[in-house]
Amino acid sequence: MTSEDVALAAAAYRIPTDAPEADGTLAWDSTTMVVATASCGGSVGTGWTYAPAAAVAVVEELLAPVVAEDRDPLDVEATWEAMVRQVRNAGRPGLVGMALSAVDIALWDLRGRVEGRALADLWDATPVPVEAYGSGGFTTYDEDRLTTQLGGWRDLGLRDVKIKIAESWGHEEQRDLERAATARKVVGDDIGVFVDANGGYSVTQACGVGRRLDELGVAWFEEPVSSDDLTGLDEVRVSVRADVAAGEYGYDEASLARMAPYVDCLQLDVTRCGGYTGWRRAVAAVPPGTELSAHCAPYLSLPVAATTPGLRHVEWFHDHVRIAQLLVDGCPDPTDAHLAPQVAPGHGLTFRTAGAEAFRVT
Ligand SMILES: [Mg+2]
Repeated sequence: MTSEDVALAAAAYRIPTDAPEADGTLAWDSTTMVVATASCGGSVGTGWTYAPAAAVAVVEELLAPVVAEDRDPLDVEATWEAMVRQVRNAGRPGLVGMALSAVDIALWDLRGRVEGRALADLWDATPVPVEAYGSGGFTTYDEDRLTTQLGGWRDLGLRDVKIKIAESWGHEEQRDLERAATARKVVGDDIGVFVDANGGYSVTQACGVGRRLDELGVAWFEEPVSSDDLTGLDEVRVSVRADVAAGEYGYDEASLARMAPYVDCLQLDVTRCGGYTGWRRAVAAVPPGTELSAHCAPYLSLPVAATTPGLRHVEWFHDHVRIAQLLVDGCPDPTDAHLAPQVAPGHGLTFRTAGAEAFRVT
C-alpha cells in the first residue's frame, strides 16, 4: 500500500459533562475529543484523544504531511517514527503527543480493518480480559451523587473504585477524608478504595493525609504530589501503605522509564503516550517487573492493555465511559469486573460520526 491510498483527517467534538466536575487542581464542564480518521478505499481507521481542539491543527499541519510521504503509512511503527522526527521543534509533550496518539491509533485501526485482523493478531499476542476499576468521585459531587456513583460501580461488580481528593489544592483536607470514609462505607470492606490527589498536596501534607487514608484501608494513592516531583512521590511511597501511582503526563517512553522507579504502579495513557506504538515502546523501555495500569480511555486502551503482560487494570473513567457509550459502538459494560478483548478487526470500536455532529466544534 502506498501513501496515496491513505487520507488523514481530524475533527474535534466538545461534550458537556453530566454535572460540574473537578479534581484537586482543575475544574471542567465539558470534555473535548479530537478524532483522527485514516481512510483507505472503503476502510476507515479511527483514533482519538482528549485534547483541546487545537490538536486538529497539529494533525493537519504536522502529521498529515508525514502520512502523505512516499512510504507505506500502514507500516505504522515506521510512520510513527517519521511523525516523531517531524514534531521535533514543536515538542512532543502535551498537544503534539495527544495528536500523535490519535493518529497512531487511527493507523493501527485502519491496518487491522484492511487486513481483517484484530490488533492482538497484528502484534502476534494473545489478549486476555482486563480488569476495570471505577473512577470519578469528583470533588464537586455532593454526598448523594458520590454515593449513587460508587453504588453503581459496586452493583456493576467492579472490585475497586477511585475518587478525587486534595480539593482546592489540598485546602479541604477534612472533607477529603470524609469523602474517602464515605467511599469506604458505600462499597464495604471487600472493594478497594483508591484516591487521586492530582498533585494537589505538598509532600508533608500527602504523608499526613496518607496515614489517615491507611486507617481507611485505601489501597491506591495517585499523584499525592506533583508527578514532576519524583523524589516527593518516593517519599510518600515509603511513608504510606497505599500504593503510589503516577504517569498520566508521561508523553514518551523516556519520561515514563525515568518515573517508573519512583512509583508502585506506573500509569500509561494511550491517548497521550504516542498511541499503541508509544504504549508498546514504553512497556519495552521501563525496567522489567514495572507494575502498569491504563489511565483513562478504557475502551481505546483495551487492545493494547489486553496484550500487556501483568497489567493491573484499566480505568473505567466516568467521563470517557459516558462519552464512549454515547458516541462509539463496541463499548460493552465489564462482566465480572473485566473487559473482554475485542475480536473484531482493528480496535473493534466504531465512532458514530453522524451521531456526534451536534457536538462538533472543529
Ligand atoms: Mg489521575
